[in-house]
Amino acid sequence: MTSISSYKKNWMRYENYLMSGEWHVHTNYVDGANTVDDYCKRAVELKIPLIAFTEHVRRVLTYNYRDLVEDVMRARENYPDLIILTGCEAKVLEDGSLDVSDEVLKQSEIVLMAFHSLPGSKDKYIEALTTALSNLRVDIWAHPGLFLRNKNLSLSEEEAEEILEKARKEDVLIEFNGKYGLPLEEWVEIGKKKGVKFVRGSDVHKVGDLK
Ligand SMILES: [Zn+2]
Ligand SMILES: [Zn+2]
Repeated sequence: MTSISSYKKNWMRYENYLMSGEWHVHTNYVDGANTVDDYCKRAVELKIPLIAFTEHVRRVLTYNYRDLVEDVMRARENYPDLIILTGCEAKVLEDGSLDVSDEVLKQSEIVLMAFHSLPGSKDKYIEALTTALSNLRVDIWAHPGLFLRNKNLSLSEEEAEEILEKARKEDVLIEFNGKYGLPLEEWVEIGKKKGVKFVRGSDVHKVGDLK
C-alpha cells in the first residue's frame, strides 16, 4: 500500500485536497454507522474529491485491519474518480508513542494522532505531544486541543507558538474540525502566521456527517 516515494509525508501527494477532502472517517468496523461503500457513494454524490478511512486502532485490534484495506481496494474499482485512502487514528500514549502496530502502519496511507485522555498534567501533555509530532509517520493531529478544553486547560500563547512551530517543522497537518469547533481561534491565527497547514477532518461517524 504505502510505497516508497520522494514525499516526506504521505499527505503531500494529495496537497490539493486538504480542505475539499474529508480526512477523518470512522466505519462500522469500530464505532461508525456505515461501510466504506456507503461513504464513497455519498462522497461522490456530494462531489467530495477525497476520503480517508482513518479507523480507530490499538496495538491489539478488535477487527481485521486487512478487511478494511480490502474494502478500500474494492471501492477504488467502483468509484474510480474518488481518491480513497486507507488510514488510522492512533492514540498518543503517555510517553508520546502511538498505540498502533507496525502491521497497521504499513497498510495505512494516512496516520492521525489524537489524545483520547489527558496524560496527567499539562506539562506531560506538551511533552507527549511534542514527541508524537516528531513521529515521521504522523500526518495529522486530530481534534487538536480537545482534551485540554474538556479539562478547562489551555496553552499559553508561548506554548501554543512552540507546538505549532513544531507541527510546521515536522510537516504535521492541523485538523480543522467543524464538528468540535477546533482548533481554537488563537491557534488558527498563530498557525496561519507560521505557515502551518490545515486539513479538513470532521470525525465522521455516519454518512449524514459528510458535508
Ligand atoms: Zn478521536
Ligand atoms: Zn476520530
